[in-house]
Amino acid sequence: MKEISKQDIETLLRLQETETQIVQLEDTLARDEHRQGEILARQEQFQKGLDKQKQDLAVCTASFEEMEQDIRLIDQRIAKSNETLRMVRSNKEYQAILREVEENRRRKEDIETSLLELMEEKEGLSAAVEESEKELAQLQSQAKSEQEEIQSQLTRNNALLEDCRTEQKQIGEQLDPALMTLFKRISKMNKGLAVAKVQDSVCMGCFMNVPPQMYIEVQRGKNLISCPQCSRILYYDKVSQDV
Ligand SMILES: [Zn+2]
Repeated sequence: MKEISKQDIETLLRLQETETQIVQLEDTLARDEHRQGEILARQEQFQKGLDKQKQDLAVCTASFEEMEQDIRLIDQRIAKSNETLRMVRSNKEYQAILREVEENRRRKEDIETSLLELMEEKEGLSAAVEESEKELAQLQSQAKSEQEEIQSQLTRNNALLEDCRTEQKQIGEQLDPALMTLFKRISKMNKGLAVAKVQDSVCMGCFMNVPPQMYIEVQRGKNLISCPQCSRILYYDKVSQDV
C-alpha cells in the first residue's frame, strides 16, 4: 500500500475542487458549441425551404409567361384569319376559315382558364415567398443576437477554464507525479470525480459499503486507499463526521 500524508490528501481535495470546475466548464462549453451548431442548422433549413419556394415560383412564373405568349400567338392567328375572311371567294373556304377561328377561340378559352388557375397559384407562392423572407430576416436577427451571447459566454468560460487548468497544474506540482497521474486516470473513469469521502463505511462516490478493515485504514489516513467498487481515492473527514 502506498503511503500518503495528510498534506497529500488536502492537496488531492483541492485538486478535486478544480477538477470539478473544469469538468463543469467543459460541459458548459460543449453544450454552448452544440447550441451554436443547432442555430446554424435551423437557419440553413429555413433557407432551404425558402429556396424551394422561390424555385416553385420561378417555374410557375415561366409557365404563366409561356401561356400568355400562346394567347398572343392565337390572337394573331385569329386576326389573320379574320383578315383572310374578307378576301375569300368560295363559301367552302369561308366555312373552313370560320371553323379555324372557332377552334382557335376554344383553345384560347382553355388556356385562359388554366392561366387563371396558375395566376392564383402564382399569387399564393409569391405571398409565401414574401412571408418566408420576412421570417428568415427575423430568424437571422434573432440568431445573430443568440450567437453573440453564446460567443461571449464561450470566451468567458474558455478563459475560466484556462485559469482552472493553470491553478490545477500549480496544485498538482505539490504532488508526487505518479499520484497526479492516478488522480487524472480515476477522474477520467468517473466523470471528473476522483476523490470521495467515506461516511459511515460508505463511499460517497458510488454509495457502496467499504470493508471494515478498509474503513479503519481510511480513517487513519496514512495510506492511499481506493474504493474497491469505483476506484476513487477515499478520504475521511473527521470534522464533518463529528458534527
Ligand atoms: Zn466508491
